[in-house]
Amino acid sequence: MNSRELNDRAAWLRGPSAECSVVPERLEQPWRLVLLGPPGVGKGTQARLLTQRLGACHLSTGDVFREAKTRNERQQTLAMSAALNSMRRGTLVPEAIVWQVIRERASCLRCQGGFVLDGFPRTLAQAKVLKLLLESEGLSLDAVVNYELPLAEIVSRLSGRRTCQSCKAIFHLTAQPPRTEGVCDLCCGALYQREDDRPEAITVRLDAYQSSTAPLIQFCRNLGLLTPVVASGSPEEIFRRTATALEKRRKFDSGSSVTSRKSARVWSPEMLACGGNESGNGNNI
Ligand code: AMP
Repeated sequence: MNSRELNDRAAWLRGPSAECSVVPERLEQPWRLVLLGPPGVGKGTQARLLTQRLGACHLSTGDVFREAKTRNERQQTLAMSAALNSMRRGTLVPEAIVWQVIRERASCLRCQGGFVLDGFPRTLAQAKVLKLLLESEGLSLDAVVNYELPLAEIVSRLSGRRTCQSCKAIFHLTAQPPRTEGVCDLCCGALYQREDDRPEAITVRLDAYQSSTAPLIQFCRNLGLLTPVVASGSPEEIFRRTATALEKRRKFDSGSSVTSRKSARVWSPEMLACGGNESGNGNNI
């Protein structure tokens, strides 16, 4: 796989002044999806698999906040420092800050390759405003995929999760260990445990999900968009289930490119050899 073909999300991660080095192809019928589900259910991994298959861009609000963390303190706005504090505690970032982030990046919602929103919306209020925002742009969602998993499995997934500092690929200490301990298989970056994956933050995040995010499910069901998917098993199994569920809504392909598009591929760790010529670069995963 040629990593240059992947979307790099620069405008999403760094803000409107950043330009994406790889602009997604223009699709006749781009996919526009929202991924829902408790933390640890694997939304980030599925978002990456989906975006690779569909040519869409992976828009994660959590990644925007984590990206801000890598800037030194003088480069951080007061709003971003407040967001990072919430994130460390495992609580939701205040709505006004989330809206500032989304408003600044509204052009990413118009991306010609479509999008997979991961981690947004997270409250009923966010869902309602997103609906209005999309309507005002003449856009509509294809589906809201809701990943379901028992609580005990969620806790085990979160506490064993390790993330690549550089390309954001996700591993698990036992279920999906890297070939070399602490080193990313894809880009050789260092693996770390997210602050909000520590035990004290996990409980807070699950509580926040129950009280704020769970009510979204009924809202999306009422809109006829809810697409439930069981999130147990390997990432590939969950991806196949997701594809089957989406296929029922509309043909599950890349959305027919306006320019010629090569056959869609599904990402697998074996496709990229660590240290090889085609290793991931930056956030291109
Ligand atoms: P995630 O990577 O989606 O699990 O997000 C990590 C953290 O970022 C969350 O625990 C929240 O603190 C914050 N966050 C991400 N997205 C949102 C959102 N839409 N609303 C409020 N807080 C958010």
